[in-house]
Amino acid sequence: MMAILSPSLNRPLQDRHGRTISYLRISVTDRCDLRCRYCMSEKMTFLPRSALLSLEEIAIIAERFIARGVNKIRLSGGEPLVRRDVGELVRRLGRHVGTGLDELTMTTNGNALVEHSAAMVAAGMRRINVSLDSLDAETFRYITRHGDVARVTAGILAARDAGLSVKINMVALKGLNEDHIAPMLDWCIAEGLDLTLIETMPLGQIDEDRADRFVPLTAVLDDLSGKFPLVRDSHRSGGPARYWRVDGTTTKLGLISPLTGNFCDTCNRVRLTTEGVLYTCLGHDDKVDLKAVLREQGVDGLDAALDAAMLTKPARHDFDIDAAAPAVARHMSVTGG
Ligand code: SAM
Ligand code: SF4
Repeated sequence: MMAILSPSLNRPLQDRHGRTISYLRISVTDRCDLRCRYCMSEKMTFLPRSALLSLEEIAIIAERFIARGVNKIRLSGGEPLVRRDVGELVRRLGRHVGTGLDELTMTTNGNALVEHSAAMVAAGMRRINVSLDSLDAETFRYITRHGDVARVTAGILAARDAGLSVKINMVALKGLNEDHIAPMLDWCIAEGLDLTLIETMPLGQIDEDRADRFVPLTAVLDDLSGKFPLVRDSHRSGGPARYWRVDGTTTKLGLISPLTGNFCDTCNRVRLTTEGVLYTCLGHDDKVDLKAVLREQGVDGLDAALDAAMLTKPARHDFDIDAAAPAVARHMSVTGG
């Protein structure tokens, strides 16, 4: 891979609302080996491979962000571990951990963690998020359409045993996994994992109406508070989650409530799609095509493009689960969840 860091313009990235951008999420592929019902339709159309950024281009853009003060990068998708040679990107970005990057992390469905965990740790990863919407085999298969829960839990425990701190992501879904949330928290406590619950968000068309599955996390919190000794943890990472500690355990519970609790005032993140488009908000269409800039102007064109992108970052998202159409047409898997 070629060397890249341009020496110029290493000032921090700031938007018009006084927020400093220090966190980049990258969708390394929109493809996935599962088809979670709330995420994508069964017959999801994926981008042609020719439309994707190369891994080299992803690294060049990511390194320009690091030079501009981004200290946390999350690789996501789609399923990041289905992209061939993703380990090469992990190794390259991992070299910046401790010298620019505070953290390189990943969100994965866990299907391939048994194979990949050791290499991820060797590359400098310390924490990952793994999606797991139920521990019940039948429910898990129904939600994911193809998933094998035993394979995912084996991957999670392999990751933990390889030295990764694991946070489980669980989307709360009415009539599907509401009763599985307390058992999931019990399991996380027993296995030394954290748990983050997420409200389903209106991103991209799927085969059903998300409003039918929407569970407000305010109600879930009331229920869990009666069952577990939850202690509010005031720590905010600049991210969307609010946290509780389960007293007497190492487990933290996070709640991401984009519908019932807006968190945009402290937003510190932007997202790079599989195609090289930078979106400044998950719920809006403001964007800058960094792939075009990189291919037409080279790495020196990126700084001006990043500054221009910052000016487009909206004050907040406007999610409405009852709206007739999703807030934006693109799926979370394209933008990088
Ligand atoms: N495939 C990986 C995984 O599932 O962890 C990474 C990509 S996935 C898009 C990232 C996260 O977004 C997952 O935790 C998933 O549950 C969540 N997600 C996907 N679509 C969502 C939606 N419409 N609303 C809320 N969360 C969603
Ligand atoms: Fe794939 Fe993740 Fe979307 Fe599920 S949530 S379909 S695992 S990208």
